Amino acid sequence: MQQAARAAGKSESLDKLLTDYPKGPHDQPQSMCPAFGSLRVGLRMRRTATILSGSACCVYGLTFTSHFYGAKRTVGYVPFNSETLVRGQLYEDIRNAVYEVAKPADYDAVVVINLCVPTASGVPLDRLPKAIDGVRIIGIDVPGFGVPTHAEAKDVLAGAMLRYARTEAEAGPVARPRAVSSMPTVTLIGELFPLDPPGVGAILAPMGLAVGPSVPPREWRDLYGALDCAAAAAVHPFYTASIREMQAAGRPVVGSGPVGEEGTADWLDSIAAATGISADTAKAKALPAIRAAIAENQIEARITVSGYEGSELLVARLLIEAGADVPYVGTACPQTAWSEPDRAWLAAQGTQVQSRASLEQDRAARLEGRPELAVGTTPLVQKAKALGIPALYFTNMVSARPLFGSAGAGALAAIVAAQTKGRDRFSRMVSFFDNVGSGETAGYGWTDVPKDPPGAKDRLRKAREAKAKAAMAVGT
Ligand code: SF4
Repeated sequence: MQQAARAAGKSESLDKLLTDYPKGPHDQPQSMCPAFGSLRVGLRMRRTATILSGSACCVYGLTFTSHFYGAKRTVGYVPFNSETLVRGQLYEDIRNAVYEVAKPADYDAVVVINLCVPTASGVPLDRLPKAIDGVRIIGIDVPGFGVPTHAEAKDVLAGAMLRYARTEAEAGPVARPRAVSSMPTVTLIGELFPLDPPGVGAILAPMGLAVGPSVPPREWRDLYGALDCAAAAAVHPFYTASIREMQAAGRPVVGSGPVGEEGTADWLDSIAAATGISADTAKAKALPAIRAAIAENQIEARITVSGYEGSELLVARLLIEAGADVPYVGTACPQTAWSEPDRAWLAAQGTQVQSRASLEQDRAARLEGRPELAVGTTPLVQKAKALGIPALYFTNMVSARPLFGSAGAGALAAIVAAQTKGRDRFSRMVSFFDNVGSGETAGYGWTDVPKDPPGAKDRLRKAREAKAKAAMAVGT
């Protein structure tokens, strides 16, 4: 598909993706369809229409997943068949759909996302009009063979929108963001738990700083507020395109985040260096509270951490500060300059940090590390539980709680304690299900691969042939 996409004129788009999101040991995503990241960012925005262009099966899966994760919005879709694809009619259909949808009374922006097949076929979304009656049109290629994780796909759209908004702001007056702080702001980059931005705002307040609109934004005019900051914080360090836009707007960018006592102190120092405002008062206020929260919520367990959200290193830092032994952290996201402070800190604690970790690496680490708790993705958690190791879903459990400040310390300790306490229960489950087999021999009574009843395949083939013949005969 890569070769097809290049032959169809998508080399520039693919090269840009390859530079921003370098490939790892696996050249295809090992988690959900990456386009989900872009789709989710679009669906979370007010007055923004999101339209998919791709195979119906992909669109079905993406629509299902987005509604599973609570999107209460319509997912637009321009269907195609091999004829409309080959004749170039699909592009015309997309163009017509965009004109139909782009009504200024309804929308500020229309986002069109090319999935694998239209990207490989060279459907040129860059030729769509840049705006229709003032409604911005953003066309992006997000193929599974070009974007390694859904996390990075969030940046594909966020970066494209920031770029558009930056050029608008450079050209003249723009709409005022919904909430404008009287203080200089810090823009948090990354999709965060809703309680985290106000928590970080409280930590920054003694410096005379506030938290501005985050990236990815919740509506178009937030993009102007995000760009208009004193400093940007790449809390999720893989937002390469968004960070590039922040830097193009002349904003300093800092890495890491305010996790744990040491992490918060380091982060506040970075913010102070970026803004020229002393962090002494903020540190004097925030650090004792975080220290007390960590002391009250000690974690005594050996834990491996892996995930594809991009916050794995921050979670590992907090676990270690709370007393946990973390031999391994794997993240499906790449290493960047903005994750370097966390990587270096974790390496200094003796933790193995694996960027662009494959599922195989995560599994091997789970076996080697012999953890009392494995935090990870669905296939890893499933395997850990089958082995009787307590396990925790990173996305549904860890990412769904605060991470920063004293709230983060308390929340993480609570879920770790709840899971590690269940260790005996897991051992009982393993012994209970012992000898029931696995794979094709799963279940009572099977000791071998189940065999088809004699003649069944033949009967089914004949039935299929008869049905096909009957269908052919219709109308003759
Ligand atoms: S084929 Fe491509 S667009 Fe479709 S689900 Fe897979 S990665 Fe996503």
